Amino acid sequence: MEMSSNNLLTIVNDILDFEKIESGKIELSKDIFNPSLKIKELINVNQHIFSQKGLFLNSNFKNTKNLNVVGDESKFLQVTNNILKNALKFTDSGGVTVTYSESLEENNSLKVTISIKDTGIGIPKDKLDSIFERFTQIENSIKKQYEGSGLGLAISKIFINLMDGDISVDSKLNSGSEFQFHVVFPLAQNQTSIKPSDNDNIIDYSKLNTLIVDDNKVNIIVLKKFLSDLGILADVAHNGKVALDMSRKNDYHLIFMDIHMPEMDGWEATREIRKNNKDVIIFGISANVTTDAINQSVSTGMDNYLTKPFKKSHLQQLLYYHFKR
Ligand code: ADP
Repeated sequence: MEMSSNNLLTIVNDILDFEKIESGKIELSKDIFNPSLKIKELINVNQHIFSQKGLFLNSNFKNTKNLNVVGDESKFLQVTNNILKNALKFTDSGGVTVTYSESLEENNSLKVTISIKDTGIGIPKDKLDSIFERFTQIENSIKKQYEGSGLGLAISKIFINLMDGDISVDSKLNSGSEFQFHVVFPLAQNQTSIKPSDNDNIIDYSKLNTLIVDDNKVNIIVLKKFLSDLGILADVAHNGKVALDMSRKNDYHLIFMDIHMPEMDGWEATREIRKNNKDVIIFGISANVTTDAINQSVSTGMDNYLTKPFKKSHLQQLLYYHFKR
């Protein structure tokens, strides 16, 4: 069920993207970000899913200048992630190598080139041109083997072209494919560097003093299992009042706070905890996915928000984001 709903969500998101493209509503945002650092983070977040499938995910960063650029960070990451996820989907043994390089161009701009090379099923030569067209999926048998919308690469190509770039592919059937694309970003005026750390890959979560606050036993079991896979042993409180008490006695680094609970709800508990503790990271947990609920959670002092049923990958992304250093 989870897989089907994820697939459906991807298809819906792809179609929404396409709708925006077709109606001319696509705009590039102007974020200031460090592309090499963002790609390093993306690779780190994905390591786990690759190793679960028994695949390697290697990376190779060449000529990185650690510079900030101005551009649409989210679309840049969406494109890279999409090609990386295809590589994962169409590879059953071996793995994927990401090569990232940068070069300074005229007019104060940075050209970023990314190659994503897999050891997967490959693409027949006569199909290479058509895979960037919408709704194209190559079927190698009567039975549909791979999920997808056939829109991902078409959307990626449009986004890449919008970012002054291009994408190409080279592939050999049964031995693997290499997707290569480049984009060009103007350099940011502000170059105060966000230095990449050498030990980006190794995060020891086992020292995180963690509390789960939830009145639902199943939720607790699921979250405890997710956390123990990452080396985190968490305490449990069954409502906000108990959580408040426990948080006064223990020095927690991280609290997972369900919103709807008897006695004292997650918002009130967070407000109370924040009166004396500004440092602990609090993630709200709720089935409510509306922007209102998320905004209210942030305004009570929560640092982030997980929607139920949550995904392990989302949890990992949040942990990585908040505890990477
Ligand atoms: P989908 O949602 O089907 O993955 P895409 O537009 O992302 O849609 O890809 C279109 C088709 O291109 C895929 O269905 C697949 O047949 C082929 N393809 C894309 N990436 C790879 C890859 N790394 N290895 C083999 N085939 C690929």
